[in-house]
Amino acid sequence: MLKLARELLKNLLRRPVTIEYGVKAKPNPTKRYRGLHIVNPDKCISCSLCAVECPTGAIKMTEITYGGKKKKIPVIDYGLCVFCYHCIDICPRKAYNISNEIPPPVFKRALLRGDPREPKPWRTEEV
Ligand code: SF4
Ligand code: SF4
Repeated sequence: MLKLARELLKNLLRRPVTIEYGVKAKPNPTKRYRGLHIVNPDKCISCSLCAVECPTGAIKMTEITYGGKKKKIPVIDYGLCVFCYHCIDICPRKAYNISNEIPPPVFKRALLRGDPREPKPWRTEEV
């Protein structure tokens, strides 16, 4: 019992061995790292090819109002995406913008959606 209490106290006072991802441990990807990608609604023709071909079903065609008109565009769930970039390769209009950014740490998966209407298309807090 004494041994257990000593062990407990030791662990309570010890500094954590893990590093907070995205807070203290900032990812530093290379330039060619396949990171977050987002559609450019000006180039997209709403053909849905990327959504049909996505191997993980991460792309959902979503109706938005863009430039005063209703339009369907692909919105990516980065929680499902495996960053294979197949969507980018097959898009007939080369409509995707790519980056080497790694998804941010979030508490809710719903926040990992790429919505091109937002300044930072991947949301880090609930709106
Ligand atoms: S394949 Fe390209 S043009 Fe077609 S919906 Fe996807 S992003 Fe838009
Ligand atoms: S990178 Fe691959 S998994 Fe991610 S959305 Fe595109 S096709 Fe789907």
